Amino acid sequence: MRVARRARADTETESKPAFLEGNPVSKVGAAGAALGLGLLLALSSCRQGNRPTPPAADVTRPSQKPNIILLTVDTLRADHMALYGYARDTMPAIGRFARTAVVFDNAVVPRGSTRPSYASMLTGLYPFHHGVRSNATVLHNDLTTLSETLKSAGYHTAGFVSNFVLLGEMSGFGQGFDVYDDRMEERESGRPNYERTARNTLEAILAWLNADPPQPFFLFTNFIDPHGPYQPPGRFGKLYRSGKMRRLDPNDIPAYQLVEGQLNYFDYVDRYDGEIRYTDEVMGILIDELKRKGLWDDALVVFTADHGESMGEHGIYFEHHLQVYEETMHVPLAIRLPDALGSPHGPTTTQGDGGPRRVRSLCSPMDLPPTILAAIDLSTEAELDGRSLLTLMQGGQDEDRALWLEFPDVATPQESLPDIYAIRTATHKLMRILAPNTTKVLQQAVFDLAADRLEQRVIPFNAQDPLHRQLAKQFDSMLTRVHRYDVPFALTVYEMPMSQRPGFIDARREKGKTIVKPLTTDQIERLRGLGYVQ
Ligand SMILES: [Zn+2]
Repeated sequence: MRVARRARADTETESKPAFLEGNPVSKVGAAGAALGLGLLLALSSCRQGNRPTPPAADVTRPSQKPNIILLTVDTLRADHMALYGYARDTMPAIGRFARTAVVFDNAVVPRGSTRPSYASMLTGLYPFHHGVRSNATVLHNDLTTLSETLKSAGYHTAGFVSNFVLLGEMSGFGQGFDVYDDRMEERESGRPNYERTARNTLEAILAWLNADPPQPFFLFTNFIDPHGPYQPPGRFGKLYRSGKMRRLDPNDIPAYQLVEGQLNYFDYVDRYDGEIRYTDEVMGILIDELKRKGLWDDALVVFTADHGESMGEHGIYFEHHLQVYEETMHVPLAIRLPDALGSPHGPTTTQGDGGPRRVRSLCSPMDLPPTILAAIDLSTEAELDGRSLLTLMQGGQDEDRALWLEFPDVATPQESLPDIYAIRTATHKLMRILAPNTTKVLQQAVFDLAADRLEQRVIPFNAQDPLHRQLAKQFDSMLTRVHRYDVPFALTVYEMPMSQRPGFIDARREKGKTIVKPLTTDQIERLRGLGYVQ
């Protein structure tokens, strides 16, 4: 089917919008979750507004090309890390790394969904620009990814993913990677998805490292374990015990998350934290191995996540991708430039109290492509929505920035669900629920994030308030861009029917063998230490 998206010159909003009451988003989310995505969606090819520029032809080769390591965790909310104030030290290994890095306190993703968010992380574009606005939309070949740019600059590029929606053939995410290892044979217990637990992803990465990959390399990793269902392995399943009880209604818990006989809210939180701690243990082994091989200290290292997870803050339990609240959008972000890149960019870390330099300005994992490319003196002609964070890392300010957050359900033919958007500044968020594909405001609210990070206090929109007016102006401006824009290529959706998945997985088993090198005895022992004996 074809869906023609209308261009809109007007940005008028209803003069007397209803104020946000209760939790309208959960209702929207429930409806959204019920929708299937197995459709072939093609957007009209009319070209209006801004669009991604074609792949840059003239990339400047950097004089210094450090190895680049992008460590990401699926479904990791920032405030479940001690680095962001959590009482439990769920990520000690990453915490140690962060002490050598610049830590960003206000990093938010543009959409709280795996494939759209990773697409932004690897292209530097908003979802409405790259077109991946669902977990079934394929990242188009015409887009230039970070891996493609690095590859064209002489990098060996390797990606290791664990989430089924990032399978190369289905997602288009394999483009630009010399090695894209997406072998996954494990099945989630509560739903038919395939996945790869961190232990097995680590094993694949170690096998690749043992083969002495060419340098410089770009290593991209995606660990899925904190994503539901929360089933931390071995000792990690018993690591956290809150000892508290709050009984949930079984209808509040998504079916795939439901642990049989378990309705205690805190048990789910404990399990989620156990998954995070397990993932950190695996990442710690990887970091140690990279250090042992002399590949860590001089590398440009980034740690981040694709989105967070709702823990009931707004009546939504153990889900993401249904709304634009902070529990889903706020993610950890830490970047360490190698010392060799200190000039001309200057030092980026402080050593005074042993803690990391903190950056409070608003930013996003969408900023990673321009940041990484700027750090290694690579330039492209592409106009990106993300911007380089190097100035912030050196102590600069970017107080006026506003980011656009979205959850419109664009992949459904009914076009009957409201669109959810928000404009996010460093201190505030204006959230609006709109009639589908229109500017008609159904509900709206402002949140003071400086005083209320978890958005528990709804501030009714007040057109007399200069701050609210400013937020509305920014919102309307962005919405105009969203409505006027059509990606300059046909979008495709690839959702594999269940019946085809086992054969598809079987056929892939041969694929990865060529890059696998035997693990050393020491590596095998460390993997055993994760609670698995094989
Ligand atoms: Zn995800």
